[in-house]
Formats: sequence, structure tokens, C-alpha cells
Amino acid sequence: MSAVPSAGARRVGIFGGAFDPPHLAHVALAQAATAQLALDALHIIPTGQAWHKTRTLSAPEHRLAMARLAFAGLDRVVVDDREIRRAGPSFTIDTLEALQAENPGAQLYLVIGNDQFAALKTWHRWQAILEIAIICIANRAGSTSTGAGFDPENLAGHGVLTLQLPLMPVSATDIRRQISSGSAGPPGWTPLVPEPVARYIERHHLYISP
Ligand code: ATP
Repeated sequence: MSAVPSAGARRVGIFGGAFDPPHLAHVALAQAATAQLALDALHIIPTGQAWHKTRTLSAPEHRLAMARLAFAGLDRVVVDDREIRRAGPSFTIDTLEALQAENPGAQLYLVIGNDQFAALKTWHRWQAILEIAIICIANRAGSTSTGAGFDPENLAGHGVLTLQLPLMPVSATDIRRQISSGSAGPPGWTPLVPEPVARYIERHHLYISP
């Protein structure tokens, strides 16, 4: 299978993450990807059992509910719970292969931040990922892709592109830390997430303990 798009093919994006919680950079990235890649659909995929995250994630039901709130109303964006429903570890290649089977002939686009791209070679069947999808990288404040171990020649013939997005210095780690420490004065962390997500976090007392 080739990552070179055929003319007129359906364009399907995949944007995965822990979304623990989803924040404004995630939303901006989803909007930028949908517009810049002229996607027909962007699947937001909260991860199930993330093999590469060392901490225990919040309950999948909470992360899914927050993702639904955060991305609600975005044109052509669908929150897809397949990795949460899948037993065992969440591997991106399994999701890509399933979406390819559901969308025969479609061109797949994998949307990731450059911190994730830097670790791509540690991902399960990473070569297959490069074969099946065009990798769309968002630059992230404080990280680079230089650790990725790719040189331009390795990537020749594979689709890798950079999304245009202003740097947004926000991370879920930072938000969780601010909530658990209670250190940030008003308005604190709340402007970093969509408003319905802030209300959900408060209602369910999430991230209170570190
Ligand atoms: P954590 O701090 O818990 O690791 P996170 O903020 O990195 O979380 P994830 O849910 O792990 O959020 O990220 C999902 C995807 O969004 C990843 O590909 C990540 O690189 C990307 N991403 C997250 N925050 C940003 C940001 N501020 N700018 C660009 N990309 C981002």
C-alpha cells in the first residue's frame, strides 16, 4: 500500500490521544488538520490502554465524555471510541488498518504532535504506519522532531508533512498538575480547556489528587 494519495480519494484523518483532559491545543489542531488537509472526516480516537504512557490514565468513560464535549460541533470531526472498546493495548496501526478496511481507497492522514513523531520509531509496526498513512506533524512548544531518527532520505517516498499551527504551550500534564496543586489563582487552568470540559472536570472532581 502506498501513502501517495490518488486523485479524488476520500480523505480520512486520525487524531489519537489520551485526552486526559482534552485541551484547547487539541481542538485547534483538529480544526487546522481538517481545514488544511481538506479532510472528509477526522476521527478523534481516545486511546484505550496506552502502551506508551507510564501513568494510569483517567477512566475511559471520563476521557470519552470530555472528548465528546471538547470536539462537539466541529465540522467533519467524529469522536470514535473504538480503542476504548478494544481489549488489550491500543496500537495505532490496528486502528489505521481498520479504518482503511472501512474506507476502501481512502487516503489516511495521521495527525500527531512532534513529541509523538519523535518517538514514532518505538511504535508497534511503525514502518507499516508510514506505508498506510501520511503523517501530519504539529509543532509543539518545547519539543522537536529531531529525536525521530529519520533523515530526509529515509522519508523520501513516504508522506510526512507539517501542519501550520501557532505554537500553543499547553499540555494535559500541566493542567492536571495545576488542578491537583490548587496553586493557580483565578482563572487558573480553566481557560486552557473548552468551557464544557472545565465544567465536567469540576462536576466529577477529576485530577484533585495527583
Ligand atoms: P500529556 O501531557 O498527558 O502527555 P498531552 O497534552 O500531550 O498529554 P495527549 O492527549 O497525549 O495530550 O496528546 C494527543 C496528541 O496531541 C499528541 O499527538 C500530542 O503530541 C498532541 N498535542 C498535545 N498538546 C499539543 C500542543 N500543545 N501542541 C501541539 N500538539 C499537541
